[in-house]
Amino acid sequence: MSFLPAGLPILAAVLEREGHEVMLANYSGMTPKQALRHVREFSPGAAGFSLFTHNRFETFELAGLIRRALPDCRIFVGGPHASPLGDEILKREASIDWVIRGEGEGILPDLVRLVEVNPVRKDRKMIPGQAPAPTDAAMESLLANQLPPRATLSAATRITDLDSLPQGCLYGGKTFGLDPRIQYSLIIGSRGCAWACAFCASPTLWGRRVSFRSAHSIVDEIRQARDRFGIQYFHIRDDNFTLNKERVLEFASLLQREGPAVRFNCQARVDSVDDEILEALAESGLEHIQFGVESGSPATLERFAKDVSPDAVIRACRSARKAGIPASVYLIGAIPGETREDIRATNELLSKAGPNDAVVSPLAIFPGTELCRQATDDGDMNDSLWFRSREPAIFAAIGDHAAIARLEELSSLAGRITPPAPEIPPSLEGLSGMRLLSFGEQSAALGMDEQAGRLFAAAMERAPENPWCLYRLAEWHLDQGNPAEATRIAQALTALVPRWEDAASLLEAALAAANPKKKRNNRQN
Ligand code: SF4
Repeated sequence: MSFLPAGLPILAAVLEREGHEVMLANYSGMTPKQALRHVREFSPGAAGFSLFTHNRFETFELAGLIRRALPDCRIFVGGPHASPLGDEILKREASIDWVIRGEGEGILPDLVRLVEVNPVRKDRKMIPGQAPAPTDAAMESLLANQLPPRATLSAATRITDLDSLPQGCLYGGKTFGLDPRIQYSLIIGSRGCAWACAFCASPTLWGRRVSFRSAHSIVDEIRQARDRFGIQYFHIRDDNFTLNKERVLEFASLLQREGPAVRFNCQARVDSVDDEILEALAESGLEHIQFGVESGSPATLERFAKDVSPDAVIRACRSARKAGIPASVYLIGAIPGETREDIRATNELLSKAGPNDAVVSPLAIFPGTELCRQATDDGDMNDSLWFRSREPAIFAAIGDHAAIARLEELSSLAGRITPPAPEIPPSLEGLSGMRLLSFGEQSAALGMDEQAGRLFAAAMERAPENPWCLYRLAEWHLDQGNPAEATRIAQALTALVPRWEDAASLLEAALAAANPKKKRNNRQN
């Protein structure tokens, strides 16, 4: 099952807190007509959509269907595709009333309250091409407690105290197509990024000022999601989780000291990690880290304004290895003008850095990015392209055979990466259960079964109440053909975390392996 952007449950919880009846719906995988059936059942006074480049046409189509089926329903869009193209969207999509630029929490409560007291649309005509009102005037109406005209709405200031927002996992209203165990495993601990890479929309969406939630607030959300939905693994989706060293160390120490004993992954820039940060995160449950590396070629990095050196990549991967955290690097390919020499530089960097794997994506141009601005200035694209092209993204190398050949070379390099052997310290003294677990997992992934078993056993001895230590040891016994021991440990595990589905499945597998006859008989019956 897919999930919604992590910010949507927060918006839903904000509206719920204001006393509105809310439906948080995930329509991915449905056609606009199928989605409309559900919208009609709920018959909302206002419908809002998170607009991305890849879902723009389905969203516009659904907006049009809603407008015809429920003519009084007000429709607004926000998100990364909407923020930079607000007025253009309003000009071309007559069914949309408002585009919300940036953070919605400061605007939506007032807007929805005003929709509630003005439930009937006065002007029901949809006039394509109608110019929207200026943002300033529309915001002034909103501040004056009047329903604003069709316009792009944009809060004047960023939210500084993110802790004051409700946690998404505490949203208690209606949902559709949403699995809370997947949805609430996504955590956002900050908004924005201090850098401005040319291919990235973050600077336009948030500006370059970063706002942070406190370490306490993030740990509390993890605890709530674990307690309410049995989630044991989290994805921290900050642009750069390790940007603020003090906060990330506090987070790691809190999670390690007070729990819960969960595992997580995160993304970071290579120049904002060091040994201390990665060891602290590994001790507290970091299972995997993703670094945005993009290229090993200094020329390409400069073109992207990445502001990172290949040496920083090598240092970061080394620190991750020392800490026992597998590191993935993200690379960008299909870059027009990229040469064989650039690919060679990336190859050299990968050999020196030694990541566990690499993920390659073709260079795509998104609205609001510096690349988009450059392509527009060069006359290669304009805003109308987003409404004419049916492609899910605009790839920079369309029709550029040389760049596509380079992409294939890069993908083949990435496919040949062999994960490095774990660098286990000579003495295991002082390592937490989580860290032993990570070293054990990396050993198991490389087929070093005996070493993995020793490390899992040591992890469980060190942290007998940590569900992950029990899980891995039970799984290891099962893999080694020892289902009785696997069953014994998995039973202790399910008693400890009765709501963890993976633990229940593991116990079932161990029981089936321990009693193969019983399983066969059950099937015959
Ligand atoms: S790619 Fe990463 S570092 Fe660069 S601007 Fe985007 S979020 Fe920031």
